[in-house]
Amino acid sequence: MQVPLLDLRAQYSPLKAEIMSAVSELCDSQHFILGPKVEAFEQELAAYCRSGGAVGVTSGSDALIIALMVEGVGPGDEVITSPFTFFATVGAIVRVGATPVFADIDPVTFNIDPAKIAEKITPRTKGIIPVHLFGQAADMDPIMKLAREHGLFVIEDACQAIGAEYRGRRVGSIGDYGAFSFFPSKNLGCFGDGGAVTCSADRTALLKIFRNHGQSKTYIHEYVGGNFRLDALQAAVLSIKLRHLDAWSAARQANAAAYRKLFAEAGITEEEITLPREADYPVRHIYNQFCIRVHGGRRDALKNFLAQNNVGCAVYYPLSLHLQECFKSLGGKAGDYPACELATSEVLALPIYGECPAEQREFVVETIAKFFK
Ligand SMILES: *Cc1c(COP(=O)(O)O)cnc(C)c1O
Repeated sequence: MQVPLLDLRAQYSPLKAEIMSAVSELCDSQHFILGPKVEAFEQELAAYCRSGGAVGVTSGSDALIIALMVEGVGPGDEVITSPFTFFATVGAIVRVGATPVFADIDPVTFNIDPAKIAEKITPRTKGIIPVHLFGQAADMDPIMKLAREHGLFVIEDACQAIGAEYRGRRVGSIGDYGAFSFFPSKNLGCFGDGGAVTCSADRTALLKIFRNHGQSKTYIHEYVGGNFRLDALQAAVLSIKLRHLDAWSAARQANAAAYRKLFAEAGITEEEITLPREADYPVRHIYNQFCIRVHGGRRDALKNFLAQNNVGCAVYYPLSLHLQECFKSLGGKAGDYPACELATSEVLALPIYGECPAEQREFVVETIAKFFK
């Protein structure tokens, strides 16, 4: 049996006719830049995220960058974030000239630990970027409290967590900004690169100016922004797909529940593997990834065994960001963020996409059970 980590064709085929007709209509209009499709999608996204507004941009990476630019972040400023995230979270901070400062993670949720953030605040700190990793919300209440006490902005990196909830609130509606990615492997993926920033209604105008080279009127530039515009073609695709997002996320949750049952039945112990855990605070986890922890230093061996048996799996992420070559000048060293560094040596993502058939999930667990026999 062949089990892919993700198969996007299964999601696409039932929507193909509808999407193709929307794409064809857009091509007939030849209206590719911004316009009604982008505006419609922005409204739908803001409603979905229960945020005051949303602004479509080129990618999740640019969503982070544009929010930092609007906040005027630059050289000499510090922004606190997690060392256990996709590179772009930290890359964005460096791209605007600021200094990333790491705070270690909570081993249960893999998300930034608010107590560790408090220790890292200095007079130069301007903001915090918590990441809702793998589809589960970070502990936002204490983070917002710290931010308010110290006058910091909060950008939620919600790239992996669209529709996830924290104490009944949607991610992207809690901080000052939410950054979303529509990279194809995210729960809501477009047909290439795309992203969005959510924020309060009064902030959208400035974001839209920055998205278009800081231009407030035609050829009048109040700021230096950039070309961060979401394509109308992508917006048309996203509007159609957004209507199915809750069903897809529910299918991922059902697959996660099915895995829990299968792992328990297979007799795999907590000494061998820990399944992803949900936080103590109330969450809606949307399972962009189902990341197990493999104990006893056997993660890479299990990864190779799964690959030999045609089971797709991946390590998100194998290296704490403070140890990346390009961040060496920040002075990080091994042992600085022990919870993150342990996670990088243990995590392994298993196939969780909504259309993954039951027999494939069973095969995944059987193969893992065989490895531990
Ligand atoms: C995917 C992702 C990004 C970047 O999104 P792109 O659309 O690929 O630029 C940023 N942060 C996190 C946590 C992500 O998973």
